[in-house]
Parts: sequence; C-alpha cells; structure tokens
Amino acid sequence: MDLTFSEPELAFRDELRAWFGEHDPGREPEHDEDAHYAWRRAFQRQLAQDGWAAVHWPPEYGGRGATLTQSAIFFEELGRSGSPLPANVLGLLLAGPTIMTWGTPEQKERHLAPILTAEEIWCQGFSEPDAGSDLASLKTRAVPDGDEWVVTGQKVWTSGAQYSKWCMLVARTDPEAPKHKGLTYFLMDMEQEGVQVRPLRQITGESEFNELFIDGARIPDENVLGGVGNGWKVALTTLMNERSGLAFFLQVRLRQVLDRLIAEAAQRDLLDDPVIADRLGELHLRAEVLRLTAYRGLTAIEKYGQPGPEGSLTKWMWSETNQQLTQFAADLLGPEALIAGGRWSYELLRARGNSIEGGTTEVLKNIVAERVLGLPKAR
Ligand SMILES: Cc1cc2nc3c(=O)[nH]c(=O)nc-3n(C[C@H](O)[C@H](O)[C@H](O)COP(=O)(O)OP(=O)(O)OC[C@H]3O[C@@H](n4cnc5c(N)ncnc54)[C@H](O)[C@@H]3O)c2cc1C
Repeated sequence: MDLTFSEPELAFRDELRAWFGEHDPGREPEHDEDAHYAWRRAFQRQLAQDGWAAVHWPPEYGGRGATLTQSAIFFEELGRSGSPLPANVLGLLLAGPTIMTWGTPEQKERHLAPILTAEEIWCQGFSEPDAGSDLASLKTRAVPDGDEWVVTGQKVWTSGAQYSKWCMLVARTDPEAPKHKGLTYFLMDMEQEGVQVRPLRQITGESEFNELFIDGARIPDENVLGGVGNGWKVALTTLMNERSGLAFFLQVRLRQVLDRLIAEAAQRDLLDDPVIADRLGELHLRAEVLRLTAYRGLTAIEKYGQPGPEGSLTKWMWSETNQQLTQFAADLLGPEALIAGGRWSYELLRARGNSIEGGTTEVLKNIVAERVLGLPKAR
C-alpha cells in the first residue's frame, strides 16, 4: 500500500492542524471527573461549531463527508495536538453511524444534531453481568405494552452512563427465538425513574463506567431502531464502528506516552544503558508496527467496504504494547512512578482494562486465528 498522502489529504491535514493550533482546549482538569468531562464537552462544542466534530459524517448531517484516510488523519491530529477525545465519543462513533444506517427519517432528524454538539450524550448498554464476550446471551427483557415497551434487566460496564441522556440498548424481545434472533435495538431515554445508574469504582479511583439497573423503564415504539427482532444486525453495525476510528487516536496516544518515557529516561541519563535502550527500541518498533497495521486495516475497509478481522489484531497489539510500556515505565522510574494520583501510576493502572474493553484479548486471538489465519474453529 502507498502511505503517501494525496494533495487533498495534505490540505485537509494542514487545515486541521491549523485549527488545532488556534484552539487550545485549555488546562486539563485533574482529580475531578465531572470537571474533566465538562472540559471535554466544551471542547467538542468548539469542534462542532467549525464542522470538525464528526468529519466522517455526511455533510447533510453536519459532517464533512471525510474519506477513511481523512478520518484517520483527524484522529492522528487530535492525538498529536494533545486535545481530548470529544465527550460524546460513543455518540459520534457508534450511535450516530448506527442511526444513519438503520434509522427512520424522524430518528435521524431527532437525534443526530444533538450528538454532534454534545448536547445529548450517549452510552452503550450492551454488556450484562452474564453477557460480555457472548453478547447474544443477554437477558434484559423488553415486553410490548400498547405502543410502548417495558424494559427490565441489568447492564454493566456502561461507560459514561452518568452523563448520558440516551442509551443504545439491546434487549430480548422474543425469548422463544434462537438467541441471536430474539433481540431488538432500542434508543432508551435515560432520564426516567425506571433507570438507575450506579457508578463502579475502578482500580484508578475514577468511575468511568457504571451498573445500569432497569426496572420497568418505558420506551415508545418510535424508539425501536432497525425493526423488532433485528437487534443483532443493528448491534453489529455499532460494534463494527467501534474500533475503526479510535485505532488511530490510540496509537498516537501510545506514541506520546512512549516519547514522554524516553524523555524522562534521557533526563536521568539512562539511555546509554544497553538493557534500557534495547527495551525502548523494542517499544518504538511495536509502536511503528501498530501505526502501519492501523493503516493496513484502512486499506481493507477501502477495498471491502467494512472493517476486516485485521482490526482485531490492531486492538490486541495496542493493548499488549500499552501494558508493556506502562509496566516498563514503572520498572524504570521506580517508586516515583507509583505515587497514588500520579500520571504514571494512572497510566499503569488504566492500561489493565485495555485487554478487556472493546473485546478481550482471548476473543480477539480467536478471531485472528479463525478469520485472518484460517485456522480451525475453537468450538
Ligand atoms: C474500561 C471498560 C469500558 C467498557 N465500556 C463498556 C460500555 O460502555 N458498554 C458496554 O456494553 N460494555 C462495556 N465494557 C464491557 C466490555 O465490552 C466487556 O467487559 C467485554 O466484552 C468482556 O466481557 P465480560 O467482562 O463479560 O467477560 P467475559 O465475556 O465473561 O469473559 C471472561 C473471560 O473469559 C474469556 N473468554 C470469554 N469467551 C471466550 C472464548 N470464546 N474464548 C476464549 N476466552 C474467552 C475472556 O477473554 C475473559 O478473559 C467495558 C469494559 C471495560 C473494561
């Protein structure tokens, strides 16, 4: 593949880089999650004002109709500028594109604009206590009642639910049907009595995600997305969109963390130590391979119209490399990297979840074995 950007891509990158140069997100709030979220939300508003919040969305919905390469450039430049991920990242990357694919004209009209401006935040209510990797075994029930549905069940690991107005909810509407067939995808209003959000405290001390207790929540018929019983297909659209854009942002952030570590090692005159240099060289190599593999995944999407199984390889490599990198930082910097509330201890602890979120490493390895290498199925 050719990794040279075309003239229009270079022009796009330069315009974007100039925009980031002129729009400083301001100081990142520390030790206050609500203030941190408000900071990301305000920055998304600025992006939206100038048409940068969702470059991959078609212009009629407020995007720029960006190509996949331009989308990748957007996330690379976002990461490079040190700006935060937009607050409504799940709305922009998951809910918006899923509504564009499956939504009625009324649903598109109602939901897309407030996603873009971060006026209405979205969360993803897929995982349950007994349904994560095997999502199709979920048990949350939705029962029709007149022109509404009554929902009862529990979701877990729901990132950002505490800030969300809407939830992409997959629930079982036909318990008699085979497990992939009896599901329906709903757009659930979180602001109702039947929905309780309880934050889960993470190893880092923050509460990015939550438990969701749903007890008699009501969803009108008009908020079924893609038809009753079609939830699995609609959910796949959401899942396919999950990794494609973020891969570029994540690999740039990993590069930044590695550069910071190299700078700190240099300050301590550690770069001449052959063992340390060797380890940093290996991490540098992995970061480069990751970048190139992410671009290779892009080529697959351009060729076949959808993300291929190679995306699993990038996610697996990224989580493994980020965990190795943050562990090495702790080994290298010693106790000062382990101070509670410090930057490096945060990076080390947060990286633990990388091999679980967005698909566990074991499941990704199965996908790579079966669909990339063509090995026999594990089951
Ligand atoms: C930071 C973070 C944010 C998240 N945000 C969200 C969110 O916003 N919305 C949401 O719906 N979910 C979210 N999740 C949940 C995430 O998608 C699930 O944790 C993930 O899918 C794994 O499911 P599980 O935790 O139920 O583990 P399980 O599926 O129960 O897996 C347990 C263990 O068994 C292994 N395993 C399972 N099946 C296989 C298999 N076939 N072959 C080999 N090994 C297997 C797994 O790899 C794992 O080690 C988040 C998770 C994290 C860590």
